[in-house]
Amino acid sequence: MTTPSRHSKPNRQTSAKTSSTSLPAPSSPPNLENDLKRLRLPTFLAEYSSLCAECSREQATYADYLSRLTSAELSERESKAVTRRINAAKFPTPKELSDFDFKAVPSLNKQKVLELSRCGFVSDRTNIVLVGPPGVGKTHLAISLSLSACRLGHRAKFFTASSIVNTYREAREERVVSRLESSLRKLDVIVIDELGYLPIDQTGAESLFGFFSLCYEQVSVIVTTNLPFAQWPQTFAGDARMTGALLDRLTHRVEILAIEGDSYRLKQSRKKKR
Ligand code: ADP
Ligand code: MG
Repeated sequence: MTTPSRHSKPNRQTSAKTSSTSLPAPSSPPNLENDLKRLRLPTFLAEYSSLCAECSREQATYADYLSRLTSAELSERESKAVTRRINAAKFPTPKELSDFDFKAVPSLNKQKVLELSRCGFVSDRTNIVLVGPPGVGKTHLAISLSLSACRLGHRAKFFTASSIVNTYREAREERVVSRLESSLRKLDVIVIDELGYLPIDQTGAESLFGFFSLCYEQVSVIVTTNLPFAQWPQTFAGDARMTGALLDRLTHRVEILAIEGDSYRLKQSRKKKR
């Protein structure tokens, strides 16, 4: 099919009904809107008329018109997909990397964090462990990195250590552990927040061991914890052997970000009081 150039008249074959150099004014053929709905092209439907007027003014070609409509449809779809992925991740609050004050934590390797936000770690199935005292921004960074992953097309999910243990417990009670695990396997990034804050019983520890085994070389896990690795057995029901095996999997491919310093919240509230 030939396409009329910006300056030439459209020929009879491509547009029998037009006689001007520009696209015809939108006259809404009777079946068009229905067909666009059936084809599930909502942005075509919403935009075709105004884009037609715009292309007409600019004397754009038919191909240009089609291309602008197609791009609009695609970018709307992509942005909806990003929103869907972010909602599905169930972050407690959205936390952006752009809101993270790196000057407040000079011990943190900013370049490394920025590199991680490009999400190569997801494709490499590398894990991330954020370790440090309360309030230094571990959860903030875990969410920011996962948000970046969602924006780059990856599927993420946020759990606290307690909530993943509870999720396993419920799945066991309902005899749907394999269904749970196959849904976890479909994710690209899983956050396990606050590991070490609450002790986990033997069954919970076994669930977590199963979870980390499942994720090994399949799903990137971002762990936030207040405990150095040497103290992890105390969280996992004192089971040093199982904790060792778990750490072996978790740290096979890992980026460890140690954050030192005082709680950011505490520093902010002290500043306000001054
Ligand atoms: P942690 O998980 O280490 O206990 P959080 O990530 O929950 O700490 O941080 C506590 C609060 O302080 C959050 O609202 C977080 O957004 C904010 N915060 C912490 N560190 C920073 C920082 N360096 N820049 C901006 N906000 C921060
Ligand atoms: Mg936290």
